[in-house]
Amino acid sequence: MAKLEIVIQDKKHYNQAEKAFNEVRTLLGKANAAMAPSNFDKDANIRKGYEKWFGTISQANVSQVRDVIHSMLVQLRDRYVRLEEDLTEERGTFAYVRGVDVGGGLEAGVTIYLGPKFFTIPLLGYNCQVGTIIHEVSHLVGQTADHQYGEADCLALAKHDPAEAVTNADNYEFYVETFKVL
Ligand SMILES: [Zn+2]
Repeated sequence: MAKLEIVIQDKKHYNQAEKAFNEVRTLLGKANAAMAPSNFDKDANIRKGYEKWFGTISQANVSQVRDVIHSMLVQLRDRYVRLEEDLTEERGTFAYVRGVDVGGGLEAGVTIYLGPKFFTIPLLGYNCQVGTIIHEVSHLVGQTADHQYGEADCLALAKHDPAEAVTNADNYEFYVETFKVL
């Protein structure tokens, strides 16, 4: 089990961060289960949701998405995670991530820094706390890039360039968020 440490003074911010983190872990658990071959291969609805955000199914792309989601889950479920408020950040900053400074990177753990803006956005929905964490963690453990931002451009990316969609952080953010309704 992960050791979760929250380094946030303000009680309200502390509770917001804890709630968002727990929700991310729940959604990643659901996404990870959906991507398991036993579910993915026999459930047309799961494949439909995948195709919306990652485009036409190919073995290479599905296994890429499966690996990234699994890595994110393992990171947040089984390893040391620190949520730390960084109020020195510019007001526009939602969040950023780093492997822990001591003990060596992802195996040892991760710190998710939450900027001032994080505490002004909703838990779920457009530009939300949950999505922000998923986005950042996908960069860190899934080596995702920022080819496109936002729902419309990410939907288009999935349609026209699936290979790039499976390496784009926002596509993971939107895909994992879809599991909130299940
Ligand atoms: Zn990014």
